[in-house]
Amino acid sequence: MIPYGRQDIAAEDIEAVVATLRSDFLTQGPAVPRFERVVSDHVGASHAVAMNSATSALHVACLALGLGPGDWLWTSPITFVASANCALYCGARVDFVDIDPDTYNLSVESLERKLETAEREGRLPKIVVPVHLCGQSCDMTAIAHLAKRFHFRVIEDASHAIGGKYRNGLIGNCRYSDITIFSFHPVKIVTTAEGGMALTNDGELAAKMALLRSHGITRDPSLMDGASEGPWYYQQTDLGFNYRMTEMQAALGVSQMNRIETYVARRHDLARRYDALLADMPIVRPMQTIEAYSAYHLYPVRVPEADRRAVFESLREAGIGVNVHYIPVHLQPYYRAKGFELGDYPEAERYYAEAISLPLFPAMSDAQQDQVVAALRIAVSA
Ligand SMILES: *Cc1c(COP(=O)(O)O)cnc(C)c1O
Repeated sequence: MIPYGRQDIAAEDIEAVVATLRSDFLTQGPAVPRFERVVSDHVGASHAVAMNSATSALHVACLALGLGPGDWLWTSPITFVASANCALYCGARVDFVDIDPDTYNLSVESLERKLETAEREGRLPKIVVPVHLCGQSCDMTAIAHLAKRFHFRVIEDASHAIGGKYRNGLIGNCRYSDITIFSFHPVKIVTTAEGGMALTNDGELAAKMALLRSHGITRDPSLMDGASEGPWYYQQTDLGFNYRMTEMQAALGVSQMNRIETYVARRHDLARRYDALLADMPIVRPMQTIEAYSAYHLYPVRVPEADRRAVFESLREAGIGVNVHYIPVHLQPYYRAKGFELGDYPEAERYYAEAISLPLFPAMSDAQQDQVVAALRIAVSA
């Protein structure tokens, strides 16, 4: 089976992890701060807080921005469930903004209309989470403009998008947002097995997220309530969690970051090859905007709804590990129980009914890609 995504582990990655296992620290040592510095320097953000997953990072980011009961968080229905669940962890409510039919990212026109209605009804969101689907940036200039006008905060869910660019800057520089989140799950662009990171240019938000990552406990006297009682002293000043990343994971991340540019370049080469090889087929290829350089986490194609299941099954039978990204979050039983239903977000539902993600990962060979294309040609002409 050719998988839809797969990690790339080099000999030096293995050496870095083994060296960490032989070192003094398995957790809370020098590797996590080093990984945070490597990523923040690479993308051009001032601060980074590594965590055990992007899901944890989204949770802590929402708490740091003060999300709580009575507040709303809005995101796209075409995303992984974690982009929405983070609000529910904080006791806040979730609503969705339908997608743009061309980029499949949250539609800024729908967002603006929905904000205008929400303003009249007094239920504006506290946080909007744009998701850079497949690694292609949302229209962040427009979203930042709306954030100023309607006073909401922005968390970019860039789980797909490390290594991607938007208007001459790398995604993660937080020029258009308060916080940006990366995921290091093995199918994503770079991996730490499990892992995530929150980037920000706001020192106070970074300190708050670092506190919440580790039980809400501080050893910094300047953050304590009253004076320190001695060198052994620590205080719990907030209700935090254990969302820490291990030293082995961070060492793997540092080593992987050495290859981020070659990873994204190879993903681009493969995407351009797909574009050319699929050009004469009756499918819709992913559209790219001029202001974005995608990290190409995914390459979804659209086939007619009536054919999707048969095409999907034919590809799986041919050993092609296709997938669907994503089942709209509002149609999950957990969200339906909150009142969402079929028909709420028509563009998202139409996209879901037609989408198939083709295999795309840096170690995929041209020959493997040719095999995918040949199988797809047979499947769509059947
Ligand atoms: C993978 C993913 C997440 C969650 O990442 P984890 O590191 O597995 O917690 C969140 N949002 C999106 C869009 C994702 O693709």
